[in-house]
Amino acid sequence: MKNFGSVKGHEHIIKNLKSALRNGKTSHAYIISGPDGIGKKTVADAFARALQCEEYDGDSCGKCISCRSFDSGNHPDVFYVVPTKTKSLGVDDIREQLIKHSEIKQYKYRYKVFIVENADTMTVQAQNALLKTLEEPPHYVVILLLAESADAFFPTIVSRCVNLKLNPLSAGEVKDYLIGNENADVEKADFYAEYSQGCIGKAVELMNSEDFAEKRKTVLECIMESSAGGVIEAMNCAKKLEAYKGDSAMLDVAEMFFRDVLVYNTTKDKSLVIQKDLMDDIKKLSRKLSAEKIIARCDAVKEAQMQLKSNANFALAMEVMLMKFNDK
Ligand SMILES: [Zn+2]
Repeated sequence: MKNFGSVKGHEHIIKNLKSALRNGKTSHAYIISGPDGIGKKTVADAFARALQCEEYDGDSCGKCISCRSFDSGNHPDVFYVVPTKTKSLGVDDIREQLIKHSEIKQYKYRYKVFIVENADTMTVQAQNALLKTLEEPPHYVVILLLAESADAFFPTIVSRCVNLKLNPLSAGEVKDYLIGNENADVEKADFYAEYSQGCIGKAVELMNSEDFAEKRKTVLECIMESSAGGVIEAMNCAKKLEAYKGDSAMLDVAEMFFRDVLVYNTTKDKSLVIQKDLMDDIKKLSRKLSAEKIIARCDAVKEAQMQLKSNANFALAMEVMLMKFNDK
């Protein structure tokens, strides 16, 4: 079910969208932002379905032809804009999939809805091209830009959009969901609720992933080996990580680990550490490193995350990151 009722949390945002729909005051462009797995796509889908529903009454009906074609993935007036050449959305992607289409009236339903996932990967040229459409959008067009943060856009784009920032759910909410809807036991639910930091989609994905545990182990080994070793170790580890190329969860492991190291380093409070199963390594690094050095490692992970998003060379990005983990 891709209706508002299926969205977990984000009550305030859903309330705003429902009120806009009820009063016929929806906007032509929205930025829906928040970290991976927080529910941007779920909210965008529910909103698109509601916009097009022929029997809308506080939520999309799920029964009309519009809802049914939406659910089948073949709605003639809802479009998903995706990168075709690289991982970034280029100017040709925006022109061919959005601007040209937006100039032709909708086929059958009330609006023509464009959902742009990872819109923060739009190149400067792509943003410039989109800006022209946002300045004078055809009356039937609704554009939903999904991004980790609205900061990635030109201020001129942001000012023409309604900004919906999705906030993380509480660990308790995610935990309840995992127990109630995913049949998780309490211990498992606790770990993934904390680990996902309120991003419910991420919690479900990781919990159900067959190889997450193994991946986590490999990444952590690489961190410890690179920390203790030198350039050779970093290069060897970068090779090991090749197996997870294209998998963003891999760097999340590193990010979460250093988060815990930093927390323990500054507070010495074990109860604030999320990954209690890694206490030995967390203690080891937090004794060895100053807070500044741990923060530098967090930055190195973030930099690598950005580089992989913008299609940088994987092995090189990993080598650079792992070398920065080394203290010699
Ligand atoms: Zn419907």
